[in-house]
This record gives sequence, structure tokens and C-alpha cells, in this order.
Amino acid sequence: MSKNCDMIKDLLPLYADDVCSDESRKAVEEHIKECAECKGELDKLRRNVTVSPKNDGEVLKRIKRRLRIEKLVVGIISVLAVCGILLFGLMYLINTDKSMDVEKYNIPDNLHVTMHGSELYLVVNGEAAAFWHAFPTISDADGDHMGYGTGFDSEKKNGYGITLKQRKIDSFAISKMLDDKNGCEIRLFDIEKNTKMEKFFYYDDVNDKEYILWERGTND
Ligand SMILES: [Zn+2]
Repeated sequence: MSKNCDMIKDLLPLYADDVCSDESRKAVEEHIKECAECKGELDKLRRNVTVSPKNDGEVLKRIKRRLRIEKLVVGIISVLAVCGILLFGLMYLINTDKSMDVEKYNIPDNLHVTMHGSELYLVVNGEAAAFWHAFPTISDADGDHMGYGTGFDSEKKNGYGITLKQRKIDSFAISKMLDDKNGCEIRLFDIEKNTKMEKFFYYDDVNDKEYILWERGTND
């Protein structure tokens, strides 16, 4: 291999791609007429060059496929994110409570108390029976309620009350009343053991209003 061959081999890739100068091209053409080795190199390069469009096609296909997959992944993630937000919102509405509307659900007309021995029970009927949970409160002689505000004085406690809570979505709450026509009973307290309790009431925490349902010495 002559020194010339080294130089020509450096030029061959450029020649094969047809990007070398006229001078270089002439030099390469003249050399390969006489040098079988360099001619062979050129043929090899040209095979690669002719193969390359096919490769480009493959690469392009691969890029397109990858883009499609990325689009799909982004799409799936977006859909999941939207579903997640909707689900979160729904769970929030289902699992967050609010006080039942006193007028809308006829509270406390649907509430009365009954005794089993010395134990006081609350009986809940009608639409009020659609409550999700009964939130208890104790009142003091000043009219403040534990759990609502900060004025409650536990030394002066004199009454026990509940507030009916429902889910934020009405339809989830109200469906229960249809198969609950007989109402339900909630045990309140033993009036002989809890002598400090002078009254039982429904507490409308929205309007800070008590509806007395039982008072010691009047209806027990
Ligand atoms: Zn050569």
C-alpha cells in the first residue's frame, strides 16, 4: 500500500457521497484505475451507501413507532390523570359530610325519643333517616356546644345533642330513606347514670339552634 493509498482512502467516503472537490475526485478516479485495493474499498463504501436509504427508512419507521408509543403513553397518562381528578372529586363529595338541611329533610319533625328501661333512645324516621352519621355534641349551661366553637365549659355540661350529617352528594344520602321507612334507633344515654344530662336535643349547627326532644322531669 503506497502513501497515496492512505490519502485516497481518506477521500473515498467523501467521493462515495459525492461531496469532495473536483480535484479530489480526479485524484481518486485516477488512483482507483490502477489500485484494485482502493477500488475494492470504494465498492464496499458504495454498497453501504446504497443500503443506507433502506436504513434511513428503517430508522424513520422506528422513530415514527417511538413517537406513536410516546403519544400513546402521554395519552394514557392524561386520561389517567383526568380520571384520577374526577375520582378524587367524587370521593371527596361522597366522603365529606355536611349537616343535613333541617327544613328540607323535616328535621326534627322526624325525630323523637323513646325509653328502654332507663336508657334514652333517639328514633329517626322519614327523610331524616337518610343521615350518614350522627355527630354528637354536649351543651353547657351557657348554651355553648362542644365541637362547635370554643366557648364550651365542660364543668357546666347539662345537655346532650346530635347533629345529623349527610354526604355532600344528596342522591347518595337520600337513597337510604326508601328502605328505611321504619326508621332507626340510636342509643343516647342512661338517664339514671348520667344525672348531669338535663336534656337531649337536636343541634342545628348551621344556625346554632337547639330543638329540645327530651327534658328531665317533663317527658320521661
Ligand atoms: Zn490505492
